[in-house]
Amino acid sequence: MTARVLVVDDILANVRLLEAKLAAEYFEVVTAMNGVDALESVQRTRPDIVLLDVMMPGIDGIEVCKRIKSNPSTQHIPVVMVTALDQPEDRVRGLEAGADDFLTKPVNDVSLFCRVKSLVRLKMLTDELRTRTGGAEAMGLINANLPSLDTKPGNIMVVDNRAVTADRVRGALNGRHDVTIVTDGQQAIELCAQNDMTFELVVISLDMEGVDALRVCSQLKSLETTRQTPILLIVDPDDHQRLLRALDMGVNDYLIRPVDHQELQARVNTQIRRFRYTEQLRKSVQASMEMAVTDSLTGLFNRRYLETHLAQLVGHAINRGKPLSVITLDVDYFKAVNDTHGHQAGDRVLQELAGRIRGAIRGVDLACRTGGEEFVVVLPGTEIGIAQRVAERLRQAVANRPFTAAPGFALNITISAGVAALNGIHENVDTILKQADQALYRAKREGRNCVILAAA
Ligand code: GH3
Ligand code: MG
Ligand code: MG
Repeated sequence: MTARVLVVDDILANVRLLEAKLAAEYFEVVTAMNGVDALESVQRTRPDIVLLDVMMPGIDGIEVCKRIKSNPSTQHIPVVMVTALDQPEDRVRGLEAGADDFLTKPVNDVSLFCRVKSLVRLKMLTDELRTRTGGAEAMGLINANLPSLDTKPGNIMVVDNRAVTADRVRGALNGRHDVTIVTDGQQAIELCAQNDMTFELVVISLDMEGVDALRVCSQLKSLETTRQTPILLIVDPDDHQRLLRALDMGVNDYLIRPVDHQELQARVNTQIRRFRYTEQLRKSVQASMEMAVTDSLTGLFNRRYLETHLAQLVGHAINRGKPLSVITLDVDYFKAVNDTHGHQAGDRVLQELAGRIRGAIRGVDLACRTGGEEFVVVLPGTEIGIAQRVAERLRQAVANRPFTAAPGFALNITISAGVAALNGIHENVDTILKQADQALYRAKREGRNCVILAAA
């Protein structure tokens, strides 16, 4: 992993020491020796992470952190406060300023690379998600700010089979978070994988007797349903080797016994905030992807999706020598519905129609709204004769039962449909859609409320 790290410290020896350690691991290092230069460098060099000394003359580290975190263009850059061991109150102030993590001086290599790599990995992921949400953020459709923890307590699982240590962790987190203690490794995995439990963090003791904590970590990090859930390990100071293995597996953070309560709270809060942030981004990526392919009025696929996807389906059918049919349909005299009963009544008819189409086709069929009151249904693996029966079923599903254009207001609606199929003569998307459209026009000419097959 390579990333740009900004190291800020007012003492040159400290800067050089961190710079040497990071450069040896192939990080690109930029440096600043006071708050003003640090802020300027954040803007100019766009680092992937900032290591920030707390005590500096002039603008101190806390203030620098606050300014980075209050600027929308830089707030996503992770900030690690570097504090002296004898100043625990710095951690609280750092947290309040929005810091993502802490390191204590003298900086230990394992914790340095664990924090830096885990935060850089997260930033890469969020950068990617932010890019993929495209304009959604700018349009105000999603909120890309880090969610605050004040809103909702975290849902935390603590895995430990010794009542004393488990209770101590629970005691430190109680009041702020909901804590579930689990004493068995298999049960931990099962509970975590359950959809309705939605744990936001798993805290695991590495040194349990009779439970292979490393195995639990590796399973949690490999299962599709649990691998996004952050893991915080609690380790004995002499358990270095196993800690390194756990970090390789993707364990997100760790604490060394004896556990400092303030540090536990800080690390737990950080993991939960990050988890919520990435979940939120993931959901908005999904939503904006859905937005791009669906029609907002009816929830059916839109024309853009039809065009790209139909090409694939046609290619598939041709390659495998399978049939494929297309139905185009259009509401009869729909302009009159709008003119007589209003646009809103028209919209409700379109929504109800979409529901009836969905109810009349199979899961593999593709239903799209391609224009105002025009729809296309693609039926993979279907001969034209069967597609004709489906179209007839659709026609009846519309004509046989009135629509609810407004509460208590029923309206009779009919549709006309054209049906075409892939055959040797027209083997591409444009021709099959055109054939179906021509059949639809004939259906209109021949009196509407009917189904016409394309001439083969
Ligand atoms: P035909 O039987 O020949 O299809 O007649 P028609 O009136 O349905 O056809 P035409 O294409 O002349 O009119 C379609 C109308 O559909 C025009 C417009 O008022 C209406 N329309 C298009 N999009 C929407 C929409 O999103 N909502 C509503 N309520 N009406 C729409
Ligand atoms: Mg129409
Ligand atoms: Mg029309």
